[in-house]
Amino acid sequence: MEELKCPYCHGNFKEVSQYVYNNEKYPLVIDNIKGYQCEFCSEIYFSHDVTKQIEKVFKEKYFSTKK
Ligand SMILES: [Zn+2]
Repeated sequence: MEELKCPYCHGNFKEVSQYVYNNEKYPLVIDNIKGYQCEFCSEIYFSHDVTKQIEKVFKEKYFSTKK
């Protein structure tokens, strides 16, 4: 079984289901995704696949190249 620990403080991760990107220009909130947040330092970790998914949603929202 995979046990995830925070790479910064080695705290335990808890599961989170929401991604929040607090950016003045490009704010983004995505629900229903699987991520982990450190209980100690609040660092958030997402798997490679989820990171790709976030990038996709972000690009579609702000850098859509629809013609
Ligand atoms: Zn941490």
